[in-house]
Amino acid sequence: MIYPSSCVGEGTWHQGDRFNVSEVCNFNHFDHVGVAVKDIEAALAFFRKVFDVPDAEVVLMEDQGVRACLVEVGQTRLELLEPTGPESGVGRFIERRGEGLHHLALNVTDISGKLQVLKTLGVDLIDQSPREGLSGTIAFIHPRSMFGVLTELVENDSK
Ligand code: ZN
Repeated sequence: MIYPSSCVGEGTWHQGDRFNVSEVCNFNHFDHVGVAVKDIEAALAFFRKVFDVPDAEVVLMEDQGVRACLVEVGQTRLELLEPTGPESGVGRFIERRGEGLHHLALNVTDISGKLQVLKTLGVDLIDQSPREGLSGTIAFIHPRSMFGVLTELVENDSK
């Protein structure tokens, strides 16, 4: 695998070396998968009926233009996202691509430090600093740096 020089960060790096631990954005586990849906009550009812997942509270997050819920499934979670209108981010996503996989979330420790590591490695961030989200303290990485997958970092109490 060839890394562009902007990915190497500080210090000397040779192909085959592992990055120094302080220079990588290691994560604990996949925190959740975000799915964009048109009708969150219908989607939640579907997952409850078919997969017998636990119930979850639907929360309005006006600043993000979504109604969302987090369904606990073992160590990971399913995040359902319904747009509040066609002009919201998730609304435009559904308009362009239809319902479906919206983002992947990685559970990290020290999210502020991890964002600094990502900046050093030349990864494009949507959020330059962490903010509060439904699943914990969050920040999004731009999909153009992640093989087309919108990726969220999450820090919360679960390890
Ligand atoms: Zn999420």
